[in-house]
Amino acid sequence: MGLTKEDKTILLLLLWPYAKISRLLRPHLDSIKNKVLKINKMATNRTFTMIKPDAFADAHTGAILAMIEKAGFKIKAAKVTHLTAETAGKFYAVHSERPFYQDLCQYMSSGAIVAAILEKDNAVADFRTLIGATNPANAAEGTIRKIFAKSLEANAIHGSDSDENAAIEGSFFFSGLEIM
Ligand code: GDP
Repeated sequence: MGLTKEDKTILLLLLWPYAKISRLLRPHLDSIKNKVLKINKMATNRTFTMIKPDAFADAHTGAILAMIEKAGFKIKAAKVTHLTAETAGKFYAVHSERPFYQDLCQYMSSGAIVAAILEKDNAVADFRTLIGATNPANAAEGTIRKIFAKSLEANAIHGSDSDENAAIEGSFFFSGLEIM
């Protein structure tokens, strides 16, 4: 069954605003696409770090931040703070079934820390390389953990292990207003 003249008029009236909007947007599509890509790129180019209680208490913060900046990371947010055992437990909830979970929460709430969001191309992977292996005994020479860590637990610094976790961990500590 074909469309009547009246149907066609109604259809035209319904579609007209969409046609008009798409004609208005067309010249700006490239710029909109670039902005979206830039936002995505920013998200994947960020990582989250904490200078842990042992390194902070031993006054290694300045030296560690200098290594981070020298490696090309830009500090987009930073604060000194002190986790409670409860907030540390929430941050490390992914490890709640591991045997070291209680010790880890106790250690992470034992003193002040520095939390920071960092930006650089390939931030997550490059930062993991800069900090070295979890266990300082296995960390490469020149890495932050090799230089400053005291033990497997008190290993000086945290670095997110994925873009997704970097975003979650960053927003655990910082509101949008605090991030550059
Ligand atoms: P990371 O991503 O390199 O920090 O390592 P994980 O996510 O596996 O572990 C989180 C943190 O828990 C580590 O940075 C250490 O501080 C601590 N940790 C990891 N494994 C152990 C362990 O076997 N024993 C203890 N006591 N602490 C651990």
